[in-house]
Amino acid sequence: MVNSTHPEAPLGLTLSHIHHSYDMPAGSRLVLDDVSLDVEPGEFVALIGPSGCGKSTLLRLVAGLEAPDSGTLLAEGTPITEPHPSRIIMFQDPTLYPWRTVRGNISLGLDIRKEKDPEAIDAAIRLVGLEEFAAAWPHQLSGGMAQRVALARALINNPRLLLLDEPLGKLDSLTRLAMQTELYRLWNTQGFTALMVTHDVEEALLLATRVIIFSPRPARVIADISIAGTQPRNRDDPALQKLRSEILNQLEEAMH
Ligand code: ADP
Ligand code: MG
Repeated sequence: MVNSTHPEAPLGLTLSHIHHSYDMPAGSRLVLDDVSLDVEPGEFVALIGPSGCGKSTLLRLVAGLEAPDSGTLLAEGTPITEPHPSRIIMFQDPTLYPWRTVRGNISLGLDIRKEKDPEAIDAAIRLVGLEEFAAAWPHQLSGGMAQRVALARALINNPRLLLLDEPLGKLDSLTRLAMQTELYRLWNTQGFTALMVTHDVEEALLLATRVIIFSPRPARVIADISIAGTQPRNRDDPALQKLRSEILNQLEEAMH
């Protein structure tokens, strides 16, 4: 752990019969349709579904940024009613402050809480391998490095649940492969539960312990697949290739 003051275990989630809709000029738009999902502490769950089906909405509800129309969301048995540093959400865009250095961006959460903990900042910088860039400015970073800063900024809070919304979606393919390994290593060593939206089925199969597939909007859970074997997995594993085409078929069928 980056900061030993929060030695808590990874967080489990219970989502029961979640319905959620948005008010649109033409009426109400249903986005989540009776979504129920249990996540065990320490799982790495990948969420896959057609664009616009409601995946980001689901992450926002779990983050406590929005409340569902109906249904319950529990984190370790406690209702989720607002954001909490134990549940951190990370987006595709690293959204770094251009006027803060790498170090300044990583320490943001501590600065807001007026906590001084230079050792925790150093540890977070080391965790993502950016020691030589601690004093660099965001415009001097590659996309992969910027995403590492965003990861360190999240991890300095010692999240017990990391919510990842297509975190590698904007990276070029080589950087993406490197960052997949990096994400796996952080999940494997830092003791958080991971809930990751991705549109990359291969990425889901490499990293996740379980893959949830959603229907087109309104999102319903159409498949819940546990991935056997230990990570990191081999991309060329024939069993994974087979699972990959099965999942793509399910997504294809759901679209019709
Ligand atoms: P996904 O992440 O699966 O692509 P989202 O959860 O972002 O999907 O969005 C699901 C649906 O809800 C989309 O049709 C989107 O346009 C709509 N939506 C998302 N956020 C809002 C909002 N704040 N107001 C109105 N509609 C929204
Ligand atoms: Mg989304």
